[in-house]
Amino acid sequence: MISINEAQQNILVHVSPLETEKVSVFQGLNRVTPEDHIAPWDIPTADNSAMDGFAFSHATIEDNRLKVTGFLPAGESRTVPVPPGEAVRIMTGAPIPPSCDTVVPIEDVEENGDWIRLKSGIKAGAHVRKRGEDIQLGNVIIPAGTVLRPQEIGMLSAMGTTALSVYRRARVAILATGDELLEPGSTPAPGKIINSNSYSIAAQVLDAGGDPVLLGIAADTLDATCEKIKAGLNADMLVITGGVSVGDRDFVKMAIEELEGTINFWKVNMKPGKPLAFAMLQGKPIFALPGNPVAAMVSFELFVRPSLLKAMGHRRIFRPTVRAALQESTANKGKRPHLVRGLVSIQNDRYHASTTGNQSSGRLSSLIQGNGLIQLAPETSHSQGDEVEVLLLDREFEMRTLAG
Ligand code: AMP
Ligand code: MG
Repeated sequence: MISINEAQQNILVHVSPLETEKVSVFQGLNRVTPEDHIAPWDIPTADNSAMDGFAFSHATIEDNRLKVTGFLPAGESRTVPVPPGEAVRIMTGAPIPPSCDTVVPIEDVEENGDWIRLKSGIKAGAHVRKRGEDIQLGNVIIPAGTVLRPQEIGMLSAMGTTALSVYRRARVAILATGDELLEPGSTPAPGKIINSNSYSIAAQVLDAGGDPVLLGIAADTLDATCEKIKAGLNADMLVITGGVSVGDRDFVKMAIEELEGTINFWKVNMKPGKPLAFAMLQGKPIFALPGNPVAAMVSFELFVRPSLLKAMGHRRIFRPTVRAALQESTANKGKRPHLVRGLVSIQNDRYHASTTGNQSSGRLSSLIQGNGLIQLAPETSHSQGDEVEVLLLDREFEMRTLAG
């Protein structure tokens, strides 16, 4: 049986970045640029005023007084030099006029008719933003591979970009399997349960920036499973839940083989979620995840999410881990690495982690009550206060409330 790490490596070899598409500039948010963006001009394009005030030539001040002979609002520029001993009223952002080198802010002068007097001395060059102090023509400002944040969107806009190329969102087909399943909207009759996996997985796809395509539920027959899998091949990858273990109603592996797919492996040494098949079918990755709701979501986290991010051009594809002090003694008596659902918090500037109770892989509450996966090696026990590695599923707990 292969390890989590081996399974990740095996899978990622089969996943390549998708094509790119053009989107309008702010639709590029959280997407990855496939190309370098180079400054088409300096920003600022010219030396300009950092303040509302008066621009003048520092060397020509006499007795701290200057005569105001012009006005330069933002949006205008002046080509005529300002004579010695004179100043022009200037607004923030307006280009510094020829022959001027310094700006004195309004609040630092006394105005008297056409004259101003500087209240105190001023350094040559004060309050002038230099041409190119932000970015310079010809430099790579946003390199290929960058995940675009609001600040990159702003910079791209300042560089005149209206539309840009980004890796397209991966379309992920999602298939639930099982005769016991009903879609949400009904009350479960005896023997039935509601299909929640399709929706938790769809949400995980959205959360990673992908585009979920719901294929519904396949009945527990070979034909039904084959039909649904074929429908899923329109997408970029297919995620199936359930039907992948060795029960006599588990048709997923058989269906993949029937369709002449290649199953790379079908068991990973982990808990929850040992039965997990990864296959390639007509060039598309297929993830057959366990049916139990927690096992399905944890397997998605470990194997599908990194693949999805890689397909969309991301380089950082794995969630962060932190070292956290255990709040209670915790053991893994089993022979498989156990990803225990845990709640991470920060106390006294240290990460702490407690487990979320009953770790049954059908118990979605164990994920709801937590925000991380505590990684426990096989046959190990830890005392309270021991540090363990925790994979953070979200970092909401690090956000602050109004009260702090
Ligand atoms: P299976 O691997 O198909 O035997 O499924 C294992 C367990 O997961 C069973 O208890 C199923 O009822 C449950 N399960 C399978 N698919 C889903 C689903 N789509 N939503 C919620 N639970 C499911
Ligand atoms: Mg089943």
